[in-house]
Amino acid sequence: MSEINVLDMARKQLAVAAQYLDLDDGLHAVLAQPKRQVVVNFPVVMDNGEVQCFQGYRVQHNSSRGPTKGGLRYHPEVDLDEATALAMWMTWKCAVVNIPYGGAKGGVKVNTKLLSKRELEKLTRRFISEINIVVGERSDIPAPDVGTNAQTMAWIMDTLSMQVGYTLPGCVTGKPIELGGSEGRVEATGRGVIVSAMEACKVLGMDFSESKIVVQGFGNVGSVAAELAEEAGAKVIGVSDATGAIYNEKGLPIKELYQRYSGVEGGIRNYKDCEHISNTDLLALKCDILMPCAIQAQITDENAADVKAKLVVEGANGPTTLEADHTLSDKGIMVVPDILANAGGVVTSYFEWVQDLQNFFWEEDEVNKRLARIMQRAFADVYAMQQKHKTDMRTAAMIIAVDRVAHATTVRGIFP
Ligand code: NAD
Repeated sequence: MSEINVLDMARKQLAVAAQYLDLDDGLHAVLAQPKRQVVVNFPVVMDNGEVQCFQGYRVQHNSSRGPTKGGLRYHPEVDLDEATALAMWMTWKCAVVNIPYGGAKGGVKVNTKLLSKRELEKLTRRFISEINIVVGERSDIPAPDVGTNAQTMAWIMDTLSMQVGYTLPGCVTGKPIELGGSEGRVEATGRGVIVSAMEACKVLGMDFSESKIVVQGFGNVGSVAAELAEEAGAKVIGVSDATGAIYNEKGLPIKELYQRYSGVEGGIRNYKDCEHISNTDLLALKCDILMPCAIQAQITDENAADVKAKLVVEGANGPTTLEADHTLSDKGIMVVPDILANAGGVVTSYFEWVQDLQNFFWEEDEVNKRLARIMQRAFADVYAMQQKHKTDMRTAAMIIAVDRVAHATTVRGIFP
C-alpha cells in the first residue's frame, strides 16, 4: 500500500461519515486537512565521527477536543503523507472512545537497525529538540510506535525536562513505570481487544468463554489478547507470527508459548504439538473469532471470502482493506474496527498522562477497571449507531468520531 493511498483512504473514510452526517462543506474541508505539519532536517554526529542528516515529522490533525496525542515512528518509509493519515486516524480513535484528545503522529525516516544505541539516543534528543516548539504536556503528547519504545520516551522526557529545568513526566506516555509510566499500559491494547470481543459476543448471542479464537500476530497486542482469551476460558486454536502459524483444534497453551518462544529464533514455529500452517491458512481457519493483531492489509479481496469466523476484532491498525470490508459485511461477519478495538492503548496512555499531571498513581486493578468501562461504553455507542443506520461497525465508529470532532470544532467557533 503506497503512502499516498493511506492518506486517500483516510479521506475517503471521512467522506463517507460526512455524508451520513450531512456535514457542512467548510467543516468537511477543515477535517480533511491537518491543523499543523512540521518537517525538520537535523544532523547527528555518528559514532565514527561523520555527520548524517535525518528528516523528521510531526503532524497534528485536530485539537478541538484537547491536546493532540499520537506515536512517533522510526522507520525508513515514514513520510509526511503517512504521518498525516495516521494523525487523522488518531483524532477519530480518541473521539470514538471519548477521551479529551485530538490526533497527532510523527517520526523520523531512519532504519534503526543501522544505528547504535548511543546514535539512537542522540537522534531522539536532537529530533525532539527540533520539534519542541509544537510538543509539550499541554499541547501534543507523543507515545511509542513502530521502531520506538519506553526507552525512547524516557530520552524524550529527559530532554524536554532539561530544556525547562524541571521534570515533565506528562510530556510523553508509554514511559517506564519508574519515570511515571502507568501500570497496565503494556497490556492495555490487547486487553481492550478482548473487552471489545466480549461486548461483541454479547450482542451476537455468542458465549466468549466457549468460543474458538484465532490470533494473527504474537507481539505486544496479539500475545496479550491470546493470553487474556485463554484466561477467560476461550480456546485459542491458532496463532501466528512473522515466521508462520500454528494450529491445534484442541487449543494451544498460550502462556507456555509466550514464555518459551516469544523473541526466540524461529518463534512459535518451534512448538511441536500442533499443525504448522501458513499465515494465509490461519486467516481461513474455522473459528468463532478472528483477531488480526499483526500488520496492515492482511484481510484483502483475495482472502476475505475464505474467512470463516463470525466475528473479526481488529487489534492491528488497518488489517482489513476496503474491498475486504465489503466482502465480510456481505457474509454477515461483524468487524469491530481498529479505531475502536485497539483504542485500549491510547486510553491507558490518557490514564498515564492524568496520573503524571496529578503526580498520583493508580494500582493496576484501577487502571484495568477504568479501561474496561471506557471500552464497553464506546462499544455500546458504536453498536447503537450501527443499528440506527443499518451500516457496518467501521462506518458507525467513524460517524460517531467525526460528529464529536465536528461538534467540538463548531461550538468552539472559528478564531478570531
Ligand atoms: P509487535 O511488533 O509487538 O508484534 C507484531 C507481531 O506481528 C509479531 O509477532 C510479528 O512476528 C507479527 N508479524 C509481523 N508480520 C507478520 C505477518 N506478515 N504475518 C503474521 N504475523 C506477522 O507489534 P504490536 O505492538 O503488537 O502491534 C501490532 C499491531 O497493532 C500493529 O498494527 C500496531 O500498529 C497495532 N497497535 C498496537 C498498539 C500497541 O499499544 N502496541 C496500539 C494500537 C495499535
